[in-house]
Amino acid sequence: MYRAKDLGRNNYQFFTPEMNRRTREMLGIESELRRAIERDEFVLHYQPKVSLGTGCITGVEALLRWRHAERGLVPPGGFIPLLEETGLIVQAGDWVLRAVCRQLKAWEQAGLRPVPVAVNLSARQFLAPDLAQSVKQVLEAHQVPAQLVEVEITESAIMASTEDAIRTLEYLESIGLKIAVDDFGTGYSSLSYLKRFPIRALKIDRSFVRDITTDPDDAAITQAVISMAHALDLIVVAEGVSPVLISRDVYSHF
Ligand code: MN
Repeated sequence: MYRAKDLGRNNYQFFTPEMNRRTREMLGIESELRRAIERDEFVLHYQPKVSLGTGCITGVEALLRWRHAERGLVPPGGFIPLLEETGLIVQAGDWVLRAVCRQLKAWEQAGLRPVPVAVNLSARQFLAPDLAQSVKQVLEAHQVPAQLVEVEITESAIMASTEDAIRTLEYLESIGLKIAVDDFGTGYSSLSYLKRFPIRALKIDRSFVRDITTDPDDAAITQAVISMAHALDLIVVAEGVSPVLISRDVYSHF
C-alpha cells in the first residue's frame, strides 16, 4: 500500500521479496537505533566555523554520529533518515542537546573560551509541540546560557512549518537562542520567510560552495546570496569548506 501511495496513489503494486527484505531490514535497524539511545552509542563530532576575517573559530556545529558495536562509526546517511522516519529523531535530538550542554560545561571547566554550538533540528522535532519548553528546560538544568546555542533548520523544514512552529522559533529566539537556515539555496522556496522568521544566519549549501572557484554560475549565485544576506543583516556561513579548499580564490568570494 505504501509503495503504491509513494508512486502517486491511484495505482496498485504487487508485494515483492525485495519489499519484505527492506521491511525486515528497517525493523532491525529501528530496534538497533532504540538500543543505541539507551546504550549511549551516539557521539557528537564538532565541526568548526571559522571567521575568514580573523581566522578565529566563531562557533562549532554538533554533528551526530553512531558508534555501532559491530559496524563501527556509521555515517549520517546510514541512520539519520531512519531516525526521522521512525520518529526516534525527537529522542535523539533531546540526547544531542543534553550532550552539547555537558560538552559546553566541560570546555568551561577546562578553562576554554566558550563558543556557540549549533544543533541541527529536523522538521519532525520542529513540529513537536513541546519543543520550546523542553529546550528551555534542558538549558536551565545544565545552567547553559541560551546565547551559546544555535539551532539550524533547513529551508524545506521552514517552508513546511505551521504557525505553531513559527511561534516556537520566535520563543527560542526570545530566550536567546540563535536561528540559522541550513543548506540555504536547495529549497527552491520563496524568500519571504526570511522576513517572517527570526533568522540570524544563512548557511550556503555546500553544493554551491564546492565549485565556487571553477563554476562561474555557482560563484554568481553565492555572490548574490551573500549580498542579499548582508543587506538583511544576516551572518553568512559557507558549508563544506575543507582546510584544503581555503585558498585565496575561495577567500575572495566571501
Ligand atoms: Mn547543519
